[in-house]
Amino acid sequence: MQPLGFDLDEYRRRAERFCEELSREYYLHLAGHKPDLEIEAIYRGYADLFTRDAMGRLRELAAGTTDGEERRRLRYLLHFCFEGVVGAETRRESAELAGLEATLEVDPGDGPVPYRTIPIEQANEADAERRGVLEELREQVLAERLNPLHRASLERAHDLCRAFGWASYADAYAELRGLDLEALAHQTARFLDATEDLYPELVDPQLERRGLLSLGELRRCDLPRFFRATDLDSLFEAGGLIDSLRSTLARLGVGLDGQDNIHLDTEPRPTKSARAFCSTPRVPAEVYLVIAPHGGRDDYAALFHEAGHAEHYAHTDPRLAFEFRRLGDNSVTESFAFLLEHLVTEPTWLRERLAVEDPLPAVAQARASRLLLLRRYAAKLAYELELHGSPSRLEEMPARYSELLTAALRVPWPRDSWLADVDEGFYAACYLQAWALEARWRAALREAYGEDWFESAAAGEWLRGLWHEGQRLDAGELLADTVGGELDFAALAGAI
Ligand SMILES: [Zn+2]
Repeated sequence: MQPLGFDLDEYRRRAERFCEELSREYYLHLAGHKPDLEIEAIYRGYADLFTRDAMGRLRELAAGTTDGEERRRLRYLLHFCFEGVVGAETRRESAELAGLEATLEVDPGDGPVPYRTIPIEQANEADAERRGVLEELREQVLAERLNPLHRASLERAHDLCRAFGWASYADAYAELRGLDLEALAHQTARFLDATEDLYPELVDPQLERRGLLSLGELRRCDLPRFFRATDLDSLFEAGGLIDSLRSTLARLGVGLDGQDNIHLDTEPRPTKSARAFCSTPRVPAEVYLVIAPHGGRDDYAALFHEAGHAEHYAHTDPRLAFEFRRLGDNSVTESFAFLLEHLVTEPTWLRERLAVEDPLPAVAQARASRLLLLRRYAAKLAYELELHGSPSRLEEMPARYSELLTAALRVPWPRDSWLADVDEGFYAACYLQAWALEARWRAALREAYGEDWFESAAAGEWLRGLWHEGQRLDAGELLADTVGGELDFAALAGAI
């Protein structure tokens, strides 16, 4: 029975329409077609979707149904609704933060640097002292200007969770994502233990190669420089970027140019985002894959990552319910994004697609970067569980943030990003699950189609079968249904 005055079918139709308008607006703005990002008006037009009343109605319906598929759809819808409610109730702080981040500047003594470009400036800065000065200035901006707003948003989100009857924000997201966050944190803790020795073995030689200090002496402001790896730039030329994607997909049996639902946007425009992105107004009918090619390892990794999202959404079964086409567990789409991203670190791929004579330096740098990133996210999950699990201990959190990140990375970690470095709604857990799932996809592909599975059209066909499922099943269910077994992040320790 439906609660009085609530039309679920209409809610679903409007929710889909909202997603469509929002995605298209992001595409138009970030691709440089349109100077302003006008999402306020879109949210205003759909304000009825994101109310406490709608939350209550969806929960009643979910509690009242005995049909498993319907309950799953309602959980995905409830998650969508809750994020919208939190967004609506923290909109003032978000707008103010976005405004400040876009306009604030710091001056390291040689002229102003926009706040948002500090990590890029650090990545391109060979002078260690100036990287350090930029870091101090950023911490100051966070402490004085941005953290009060981040904190107000966080406290409001925590209050909302309690108002809806959850014990904490962590409990809310465990239920909405259908994920045992504590169990995942247990796996990531085991991963940290298991890679303690491997970590310096892989990372220190790469740091040395780039003239950076070793772990234990390295500072956080040196990390962008490490990830940037300028010495590898010549292997990853801007001119070959799109062709390498096109030919990679072709070998998997996917003709990018023949896919009329993927709009490949490679034209330069003055205000186009420097980073590749994928936008999905209609799944699977209208997907944008956008890039302003500038070359370098990161550019290749970003395009292949976004192409993984684009192919997943473009191959999603159009007959699936809205919730299964575009809501659900984002660990699934992230796993396909990581799978394609990983190709640009495969020795054979580097030799065949980019004609790299000696791929070993690029492969070693990628392994080291990957382990650092996995350890960072493992520590972030442990921290976010404390931050969102025990709101009464908020005062201790800057110190806990620094302790946990410092221990995992062996880099003294500044405290002031304790709020800015938090992914909303435990999205960090999606990435962690996705890394674990991607490793399982890769192992299955290797076993069935050989080391160079990415040269095989049959492997592509297998992948298309997975993509077809959209996000009806979550990461663990999709794995169990296809390859079999359980998802275990700790197993990644043997697959770095
Ligand atoms: Zn992604």
